[in-house]
Amino acid sequence: MTTRSVILSLAVLIFVVLAPYVLGSFYIAILNFVGIYSIVAIGIVILTGSGGLISFGQSAFVGLGAYATAVLSAKLGFSPWMGLPVALAVSAFTAAVLGMVTLHLSGHYLALVTLAWGMVITLLFGNLEELGGHTGISDIPALSIAGISLAPQERYFYLVAVCLILVMLGTTFLMQSRQGRAIRSLKGGETLVTSLGISQFRIRLGIFVISALLAGLAGWLYAHSQRYVGPDPFSIQTGIEFLLMAVIGGSGHIAGAVIGATLFTSLHSILQDLLPLVTSRAGNIEKIIYGCLFILVLQHARSGIVGMLPRFTPRKSEPVAQTAEPLARRSLPMRGEPLLQVSGLSKRFGGLTAVDNVNFDVRAGEIVALIGPNGAGKSTTFNLISGALRPTKGTVTFSGENLTTEKPVNLVKAGVARTFQHVKLRPNMSLLENVMLGAYSRTKTGFLAGALHLDTAVEKQLRAEAAFQLQRIGLLERANDMVSSLPLGQQRAVEIARALASDPVILLLDEPAAGLRRLEKDQLSQLLKEISAAGVTLLLVEHDMEFVMGLVDRIIMLDFGKQRAEGTPEEIRSNPVVREAYLGGIL
Ligand code: ADP
Ligand code: MG
Repeated sequence: MTTRSVILSLAVLIFVVLAPYVLGSFYIAILNFVGIYSIVAIGIVILTGSGGLISFGQSAFVGLGAYATAVLSAKLGFSPWMGLPVALAVSAFTAAVLGMVTLHLSGHYLALVTLAWGMVITLLFGNLEELGGHTGISDIPALSIAGISLAPQERYFYLVAVCLILVMLGTTFLMQSRQGRAIRSLKGGETLVTSLGISQFRIRLGIFVISALLAGLAGWLYAHSQRYVGPDPFSIQTGIEFLLMAVIGGSGHIAGAVIGATLFTSLHSILQDLLPLVTSRAGNIEKIIYGCLFILVLQHARSGIVGMLPRFTPRKSEPVAQTAEPLARRSLPMRGEPLLQVSGLSKRFGGLTAVDNVNFDVRAGEIVALIGPNGAGKSTTFNLISGALRPTKGTVTFSGENLTTEKPVNLVKAGVARTFQHVKLRPNMSLLENVMLGAYSRTKTGFLAGALHLDTAVEKQLRAEAAFQLQRIGLLERANDMVSSLPLGQQRAVEIARALASDPVILLLDEPAAGLRRLEKDQLSQLLKEISAAGVTLLLVEHDMEFVMGLVDRIIMLDFGKQRAEGTPEEIRSNPVVREAYLGGIL
């Protein structure tokens, strides 16, 4: 632990212990709300801020948790502590079912479904006789520990504080773990995450369930703090207020949720005191104020309050430890063995045949280039091989496996890694974390192990692997910098390092030299030669003929989707068909 985090922990500890003695019960009651709301808002930070999914229905999950424990303890006479696992299970189960139905669709559907779901559930709460209808359920028993009742808000404060601290620790650990990196990569789009071996659906489902679990926990805390539940506090409006808290505080950071919940609860309390003095329509004016605040934050401070705080330590560029038991490597096929067979490959887009009966083989250890003028079908061929597109006809066989029927998410595990024509890195993650993402498919840490911080040994291995790959591209000393600070050439290199971190058999590169300056091209060429020398097979799509001539063993030329020529760079250079296609070009 650094000195700073020791001081911070001590300060938090002292505050928590002393607060009930120093602050009046009015403020403690407010702090309890802040704690409970913070837990919900942390769920939104993970779901929306990191994962890019919007839910208006978090209040309904809070309600589910609250009603579950209310029914169990007040109506059925179970211990309030039994209410906790039940509240969590009910929220998580409901989220899992809703998620299964919607999360295969685009992200916006979830927002709509949560809106509908939030409305339905509050209607249910208000209309089911068993749940007390609009009068709700009262006489919910207080929690007690070893005979000490937690009914007074001053004592309840300690429970809320412990829950919040545990949630903050767990979610912070989670976001720094293997699945946390996967969560943070979701915004990069499905093609990217799939190419890394990450199932977009599973990660989305995971964060939806996690945010519902946190809401369920908050609901349980709420029910036994207020000792009464009714339908109103769990309406869609509260759901929107939770979103607002996360956005105002800063949805990119766990601390943003706590800051947002604090600000929002204080503002709410102040407005409720002040507005009735000046208007008889206090409730409406309050909503208008929140609406304006929302717009202001979105317009002028997208990263919320947290984004305005100065980072008081600049990112330290401490050396990355490279000593760890290395991750297991696969044995690469013998040089010259048949590796990839493309046979009869065709792809039609409506009336356009973008790829028309293409056939070629790649042997282990070769460097092969697909060339051709713009629109020739190179990228389409590339996407058919890398699983991003399904062919209309034909097959791609890799090490005896038919890739065209394989799930794209499994390709990287089979040994196929790729880079993108337009670099797809996560700009707000460090170089090291971006490259660690590449090794996602080589380890197994789940959400729970990440949240409980049981992954230190594997994380060390992953960091060492990423450091090794960064050293290969000569960027190790920038490991802790944000990717967005690099020029394009170096970003391309980081993308290659990320692909190499997956321990690939074959590396597919889509126009790696596009947009690079001459010196950067030379460096890239050198890097690709080194990678090839280490035994990795390379298949690149390239528009730049000069770049491939000095690099590759064999060239396949496409034009209008058809395969026009194949041969060594020398043969291609003197081929009249190629000369014609590139007439006026660089040949
Ligand atoms: P290249 O990478 O060689 O420049 P592409 O493979 O990107 O060429 O494109 C080949 C042809 O297919 C082009 O005419 C392009 O407009 C068309 N095409 C590519 N992708 C799609 C798509 N998703 N839908 C419709 N047409 C497409
Ligand atoms: Mg292209």
